[in-house]
Amino acid sequence: MNEFRRVYLDHNATSPMDEEVLAAMLPYFRESYGNPSSVHSFGREIKAMIAESREIIATAIGADPSEVYFTSGGTEADNIAIKGFTAANRKGSGGHLITSTIEHPAVLETCKYLSKNGFDLTKIDVDGNALVDLDALRDAIRDNTILISIMHANNETGTVEPIEEIVKIGAEKNVAVHTDAVQSFLKIPFSVKKPGVDMASFSAHKIGGPKGVGLLYLKKGIKIHPLTHGGHHEKGVRAGTENVAGIAGFAKAVELGVKAMEKKSAHVRRLRDELQKRITETIPYVRINGDTDKRLPGTVNISFECVEGEALLINLDMAGIAISTGSACSSGSLDPSHVLMAMGIAHEVIHGSLRFSFGAENSMDDVDYVMTKLPQIIGTVRKISPLWDSHKNVPITLEQAAKGAGT
Ligand code: PLP
Repeated sequence: MNEFRRVYLDHNATSPMDEEVLAAMLPYFRESYGNPSSVHSFGREIKAMIAESREIIATAIGADPSEVYFTSGGTEADNIAIKGFTAANRKGSGGHLITSTIEHPAVLETCKYLSKNGFDLTKIDVDGNALVDLDALRDAIRDNTILISIMHANNETGTVEPIEEIVKIGAEKNVAVHTDAVQSFLKIPFSVKKPGVDMASFSAHKIGGPKGVGLLYLKKGIKIHPLTHGGHHEKGVRAGTENVAGIAGFAKAVELGVKAMEKKSAHVRRLRDELQKRITETIPYVRINGDTDKRLPGTVNISFECVEGEALLINLDMAGIAISTGSACSSGSLDPSHVLMAMGIAHEVIHGSLRFSFGAENSMDDVDYVMTKLPQIIGTVRKISPLWDSHKNVPITLEQAAKGAGT
């Protein structure tokens, strides 16, 4: 297999849109262009479509349609959940928030902002497999703790957090729980009612829907303050004219995703497992990052010793293979991944880490293609590493490198 091929293995960053999703959106750009807030028939037609979409998505997450609110994506849903909830439920000058060290920046930066504006913040550590320390979570709760925000599945490693335990711990102390379910949605089963979370965030573009639309689940009775002020859209939770075509596409992606989830998960798991097996069998000095049992089916994060991840990414890109060295939001920055750092992985190992994330359109031919390119690219990149002994094909220490070993 020597011909050039384009292989997209970055589905945790974003996913391709299904033809049916595009078809569901198109009428809302030109034919059905009414504003859902308008009282006339043009508006009513759109309002009805939004209500129908809300019902489809609410059913998929186990919520009542009255509990779900459309947003501009996962980031906005996280922001409304955390800032909106803390604003409405302050204790004294603020209160205490708990999150984890491995959250997406949409949660981490929001919590950081609040910690500079009157709230106390505790970030719970994770173990070497990226699983949140539940004892530390239990111990961190104080009298003035108002919110726990811990993600369902991590975007970089695919590790699935024990959300039911987290909800139990919150409930024991009467502390609300928000979860960022952006990465787990329609990859593994999830119902807001089963763990019983108070708030949850979702995004359309990770599941074959359009970019720029997401959803916030707010359990009945949860009080929040809106972040945007304006009209009474989304019952005052998120002012601003709805992304009409985006919502139509989101609902179609959910409809298709619910039907395909089991088959798609089995498919991406098979491809991921095969790639992981072949990499670990063929390439020496690699480690798999994150829990390999409690993991999203299509994700694998691998560290290759003595290589620079950016050099790997560029070489793979030139070979037509798209992967990621960290979360997409951090690419362009050479900061080591905060998730892998929180797991206690050494800096130099983090720098050689890649995330492969599969989707429905990938095939075993893609895995074969990666395996015709990756070992050779790793070999080339290792050859120029000062920490690699090219004669013996083994890593060396900084001290050995300083003494000229490997050259
Ligand atoms: N949360 C997680 C876990 C994510 O992976 C992402 C996207 O990378 C987001 C939130 C942000 O979602 P959006 O791109 O819809 O703003």
